[in-house]
Amino acid sequence: MYCPFCTANDTKVIDSRLVSDGHQVRRRRECNECHERFTTFESAELVMPRIIKRDGSREPFNEEKMRSGLLRALEKRPVSLEETELAVNKVQSQLRATGEREVSSEMLGNLIMEQLKALDKVAYIRFASVYRSFEDIKEFGEEIAKLGE
Ligand SMILES: [Zn+2]
Repeated sequence: MYCPFCTANDTKVIDSRLVSDGHQVRRRRECNECHERFTTFESAELVMPRIIKRDGSREPFNEEKMRSGLLRALEKRPVSLEETELAVNKVQSQLRATGEREVSSEMLGNLIMEQLKALDKVAYIRFASVYRSFEDIKEFGEEIAKLGE
């Protein structure tokens, strides 16, 4: 961190505290050269990557759309809203953790399927059959057979 006054890069943190409900760290620094003090704010970048659709077009990640996809697959299944919400959050943090600016809709689909697989097998098959549009009955049968393993 360069000192904004004399551009020395020898500065020390003299105070550090969480601000805006813990979403930011405020640091008070002092330059070891000119002894001026200044403040920096640090926050995690929480930007969701954009989704690259199959046809190559891009769209912003849509949390509502993902949630309704999950809920449709989980309809009348013994999975609580709380568990569903947890799955939604997990997929979102996995997306952020990629650090990518854009990810394919295929990757997003796979992340969702992983969550569903852990939550409810029937919902997983429902989602996968719509999402992957299984090429033929044989492939679908193989997916179901895998679940029995
Ligand atoms: Zn300085």
